[in-house]
Amino acid sequence: MTRKTHHVIIGAGPAAINAVETIRQFEQQPSRITLVADEPAHSRMTLPYWLANQIPRSQTLIADENFFRRLSISVLHHARAESIHLKHQTVVLSDQTTLPFDKLLIATGSRPVPPPINGIDLPGVQPMWSLAHVQSALDRLTPISKPRVVLVGAGFVGMIVLNAMFKQHWTLTVIEQQDQVLPTMLDA
Ligand SMILES: Cc1cc2nc3c(=O)[nH]c(=O)nc-3n(C[C@H](O)[C@H](O)[C@H](O)COP(=O)(O)OP(=O)(O)OC[C@H]3O[C@@H](n4cnc5c(N)ncnc54)[C@H](O)[C@@H]3O)c2cc1C
Repeated sequence: MTRKTHHVIIGAGPAAINAVETIRQFEQQPSRITLVADEPAHSRMTLPYWLANQIPRSQTLIADENFFRRLSISVLHHARAESIHLKHQTVVLSDQTTLPFDKLLIATGSRPVPPPINGIDLPGVQPMWSLAHVQSALDRLTPISKPRVVLVGAGFVGMIVLNAMFKQHWTLTVIEQQDQVLPTMLDA
């Protein structure tokens, strides 16, 4: 019996989930697939709808245990890849587990770049990029008080997040260094 190719995929965002579906669709021989996921498989673009209370958190998820079972994917939840060793074809995780691979896909997405502003790391100052960020914003809601929010940057993601907070009737102030919103997408 020939040994199965082992695909290791780091990340569980839309790129990773599309990759596993595509591998399963086109592979000639069944392979092993392992996902290394430090967050639940979800789509960041749905986060504003959760923030606006238009959908529950569960609808931000793009793959559940049934999906992974159906496609025979092993998922290492709460797992973070720390280093890759090409010579030995291994990935070492933060808990020091060593994972051998034949093929490796790095689907780790991007992250917000914090601007050089004093106080950017103070409590209550955060991006709106992950499930945890939305949860921490929602945790500030109480039945009697609405948060007062200062949103820095009126770009694409900023405006979508602003719209979600507007729907929640939060008190909003936007700071944009250019003289209009969406300066890289729209003219004046
Ligand atoms: C609020 C918001 C709204 C958006 N709206 C839209 C929109 O309307 N339209 C649009 O086209 N795009 C939108 N985007 C952008 C879109 O969400 C991204 O382009 C998309 O998420 C990229 O998918 P990805 O799989 O490459 O990366 P990601 O979704 O970032 O997934 C990568 C995953 O890898 C994980 N990871 C990273 N490092 C490691 C590691 N070392 N070990 C294990 N796991 C790791 C990350 O935690 C993450 O879960 C929006 C983004 C945000 C934040």
